[in-house]
Amino acid sequence: MPRRLDFLWLGFLRKIEIRYRLINSFILVSLVPLLISGLLAYRETTRATQDKVRAYSVQVAKQISQNLMLRMEKIEDISEELALSDKLQRLLANYYGDDDAAAAAARSGVARVLLDTFGSLPDVNQKYLLDRRRQVIDPQIFAPLASNISRVAEEAPDLSGRAWWTLYNGGHGQKSVAMLREIRFTGNNRPAGMLFVGVRPSYFFSIFEGVDLGYDSSLFIVDASDGAVVVQGRDTSFSSADPALLEGITASLGQRRNSDFISYTRADGTRFYAAIAQLPHTSWWVVSATPSDKLNADTRSVRDKIIAIGLLCFAASLVLSALIARSISVPLQRLVGAMKEAGSGDTTVRVEQAGGDEIAVLSRKFNEMAGKLQQNKEELEEQVALRTRELERANRKLEALSATDGLTGVANRRRFDEVLANELRRSVRSGHALALLMLDVDYFKKYNDRYGHLAGDECLRIVARVLQKSSRRATDLVARYGGEEFSVIIAESDTAHAVQQAENICQAIFALKLPHADSPFGYITASIGVASLQPDEETTSEQLLRIADQALYHAKYQGRNRVVLGSDATQML
Ligand code: GH3
Ligand code: MG
Ligand code: MG
Repeated sequence: MPRRLDFLWLGFLRKIEIRYRLINSFILVSLVPLLISGLLAYRETTRATQDKVRAYSVQVAKQISQNLMLRMEKIEDISEELALSDKLQRLLANYYGDDDAAAAAARSGVARVLLDTFGSLPDVNQKYLLDRRRQVIDPQIFAPLASNISRVAEEAPDLSGRAWWTLYNGGHGQKSVAMLREIRFTGNNRPAGMLFVGVRPSYFFSIFEGVDLGYDSSLFIVDASDGAVVVQGRDTSFSSADPALLEGITASLGQRRNSDFISYTRADGTRFYAAIAQLPHTSWWVVSATPSDKLNADTRSVRDKIIAIGLLCFAASLVLSALIARSISVPLQRLVGAMKEAGSGDTTVRVEQAGGDEIAVLSRKFNEMAGKLQQNKEELEEQVALRTRELERANRKLEALSATDGLTGVANRRRFDEVLANELRRSVRSGHALALLMLDVDYFKKYNDRYGHLAGDECLRIVARVLQKSSRRATDLVARYGGEEFSVIIAESDTAHAVQQAENICQAIFALKLPHADSPFGYITASIGVASLQPDEETTSEQLLRIADQALYHAKYQGRNRVVLGSDATQML
């Protein structure tokens, strides 16, 4: 097939669902050859049956006509022998003679001769001799019968030494067969009379006996001149043949071809095939007529079987193709469904992969692919989780770092600002007091100057640790406010507690006994300003810081190494 055609054809097929393509191809493959072969078989069988019947029936018709001829000839031969016999010749001569006594003797002699001649043939039921005037030579004959026979004899054509067969009414309405034969005087060949031999139709029946064509065929002998049925088989019972048959016989005489086998349609529409054979020297025909529907009954039954088998095959192929189509389309649909799910992210989906066909291979490959996708996804998720955890840790570290003072490890200024603002809001809501300590190391510039900056740093770390230790409550926050200044936020505490905590810190620093030669105290000390208040909506962080700062300022002013509680009033100082 050229590529273009191939493409068009496939394109068309691809528009149809696979199962319908399969079902159609199954039907085409199973049904079409069956129909074609069935049709051919039907035609062939029909023809074969017709040929068979034709050959057989023609043969039968010929055979019957021959047998009939033999039987007729037998009677004809006996008749001829009788006609030429000296006995009869003499009797007839006497009959026509002038001697009345001899003529009378001849009359009775004729009857005796006839009886002697035909007595051995039981089927010959009537035998008469007629004189030249067609009068029966039998003194005892019943008059109507005699005139009847005379009439038949008068109908006879010019026989000129030949036998002539005809039908006549044998009495009781029954038809009989009669043979008529002219008798001439052997001496001068002048007409001497006529022989009438009546034969029972049963004489010919035996010819038909045992002859059965089947197919409801009927065998009979018809006189084509008037359509009368001369002899018929016992199973047929019609007295005259169908005009259509007679027409057929007449037509067959004109044409040479098919003259021994004709078809005709009876007035009731029944079609017949008929083998015909003419009996020589007569208008009689042996006919073997077979109704075509009976003839085709066998082939029709073959056809019906073919149709039944066809329908069965059709149903079977329908079921089979539906099953096969299902075996393809169902796993394909599942595969398509699974692919859709996998496409929308569910890589855990798997399809059944049993079997050894292409779909099973496809299913296995799909499962492998989905498995790899799933694995990749899990690995990715794991990595993402790991990275996320690392990132969170880093973030926390960063956050801690960003909220912690690098030198001392306590909260830095940024964190301090945040917590102070939060605690302020919380205190406003809860109605609790909020305290803030502001600490500044005394004479620290001098400490740096004397002991060096590194020692100063170390001193700040130590002070920060003291602050952490003395602020144990979870809500307490120690922060490096800046330089050597620290602050502590004490939430939910009253003023006394805050002052007490400041005092503790102050004493703890002094208790460190960190030598400070340039301090009047001889050791490191610190001054603390305390701000403690019940904040309201208006209170700001700055206010609190300012109070603590002012208090610190006062502590320095009052000689250092001490705690001063600030107030809104002291702010004014
Ligand atoms: P006062 O008693 O009045 O507080 O006197 P002071 O010397 O402490 O005065 P001031 O507060 O003005 O001096 C702060 C000194 O603290 C200045 C600076 O050298 C020192 N300082 C600030 N930050 C640091 C630091 O991070 N490390 C060290 N070693 N010294 C610092
Ligand atoms: Mg200072
Ligand atoms: Mg200072």
